[in-house]
Amino acid sequence: MTAAGSAFSLLLESLNVCPPFLHKTPKLRRTLSAVCAAKERYMDAETMNPSRPIKRPNRRKPSSYGTSRRSAMKKSFSQEQVYFTTPVSHNPSIAIIGGGLSGLLCAATLEERGIRSTVFDTGIHGLGGRMATRAVVESQQKLVFDHAAQFFTACDARFQNLVNRWVSEGLVLEWKGTIGELEAGGRFTPIQSSTTKYIGIDGMRPLADSIHKGTNLVEITRPCWISKLEPCNGMWHLSENEKNRGSFDAIVIAHNGKCANRLLSSSGLPQLFRQMKKLELSSIWALLAAFEDPLPVPFEGDFNALEGAFVKNIESVSWMCNNTSKLFPLQSSNGAHQCWTFFSTASYGRRNKVPQENIPNVTAEKVKTEMLDGVEAALGLSKGSLPEPFYTRVQLWGAALPINTPGVPCIFDPYGRAGICGDWLLGSSMEAAALSGISLGNHMADFFQGGGIHLEEFAVGLHEGFKAVSGYDIGHFPGLDSDKQVICDFECVA
Ligand SMILES: Cc1cc2nc3c(=O)[nH]c(=O)nc-3n(C[C@H](O)[C@H](O)[C@H](O)COP(=O)(O)OP(=O)(O)OC[C@H]3O[C@@H](n4cnc5c(N)ncnc54)[C@H](O)[C@@H]3O)c2cc1C
Repeated sequence: MTAAGSAFSLLLESLNVCPPFLHKTPKLRRTLSAVCAAKERYMDAETMNPSRPIKRPNRRKPSSYGTSRRSAMKKSFSQEQVYFTTPVSHNPSIAIIGGGLSGLLCAATLEERGIRSTVFDTGIHGLGGRMATRAVVESQQKLVFDHAAQFFTACDARFQNLVNRWVSEGLVLEWKGTIGELEAGGRFTPIQSSTTKYIGIDGMRPLADSIHKGTNLVEITRPCWISKLEPCNGMWHLSENEKNRGSFDAIVIAHNGKCANRLLSSSGLPQLFRQMKKLELSSIWALLAAFEDPLPVPFEGDFNALEGAFVKNIESVSWMCNNTSKLFPLQSSNGAHQCWTFFSTASYGRRNKVPQENIPNVTAEKVKTEMLDGVEAALGLSKGSLPEPFYTRVQLWGAALPINTPGVPCIFDPYGRAGICGDWLLGSSMEAAALSGISLGNHMADFFQGGGIHLEEFAVGLHEGFKAVSGYDIGHFPGLDSDKQVICDFECVA
């Protein structure tokens, strides 16, 4: 901007008016849209036609973050598409909101392409999102639980490369433990698959830290809960409640669920918001339980005792895993305590849903009892004979896993310079999250390094319909079921 131009802008700011509206609405008070319209225009989100008359911004004061879901939705239908007209920067800086696997790999990919980013994440204990590991000390014993992602498979070559790197860095190893399907009454059928199962050696969370370790162009801001996105003067301005969290050339939404819906509901990105609103997520209860003595679990034929099982026909339990034998086989063979992770089914999660950040004690107690009863029934133990755990913790994953997916690697709105990555775009697994983050990182690098022109060519995933996700309640593991041909669902990834 010229000196005269910036002086004019400053004058307008002090007069509380905004250039594009000056001729029509000289007395318009500064609203979010008006202030920010200095460089951005708003367009019709359906036609993406900037030549249509620009609508007046909503004069009502933007409502607070605590807006009800219903009013947030109503608001979204009237929000206008932001349209950045400033030339793209040669040295852009991207804000990535979400430090799970997809967000971190998006940042790492941008770094590989020479682009700076800042990852914002709410995690108090660490990065990783649903790649979560919890370590606690109880009765002077260290207890370790993977309390979301349990293990993973790799099907796509790019994810396999990353996994190979983790293996060579000593972060991941092949899980040789016996897993299978466990039916009520204790009937256990091992899964005999040649597909490799991987686990994090110290749990899943260290994988997240390893991604940004050694990066130079990735900044991490944590814990931080981004609550507002505002386009202004060719940049996106982020804030956490009223606290300014910086200005960026583009944004990435690397999380989903209620938080993402609220964030997008009044940001000027109606196409992103519409896609996000189509996503349906399951809810799953997790019960972490430590037992002094090994649980009486079934053996089957030549197989060792089960370490993990998909549970059938019991509503309160869909998965159980012995973290101690999975993560600390030596300790386990010495007959020490055992740390188990139990997950409910999605239908049980739906029937017993409460606000996950404020679980009533009575609900926590009920869920714990019902899940332990379910474990007892799955193992075929007589009523009341399951040993009493000396440590328990229940947690609700309110937005656990996607039920539907658009089946695109990522979403990108070139007009609003904003993208979305996450597991749900391709399925429900760590591999899906990884591929989505890598794809969006490359796509945005192409966009910026190509000068931000030919906008239509860079629009991705804005209109796709959704289809149901297949797999288990805790995700999709391509190739795990030996009866089926191994099909890599990620062929569509660019
Ligand atoms: C119970 C359970 C079991 C699972 N088991 C398996 C399994 O065995 N194998 C497998 O492959 N997958 C499994 N998954 C799925 C796997 O964990 C996910 O697919 C993957 O980790 C998703 O990564 P992501 O980056 O898409 O999202 P997330 O990991 O959810 O990352 C999003 C991040 O964004 C943060 N965030 C949200 N809002 C904001 C905000 N406003 N500001 C800043 N940060 C914000 C969140 O705190 C979070 O850290 C499981 C998931 C669950 C819930």
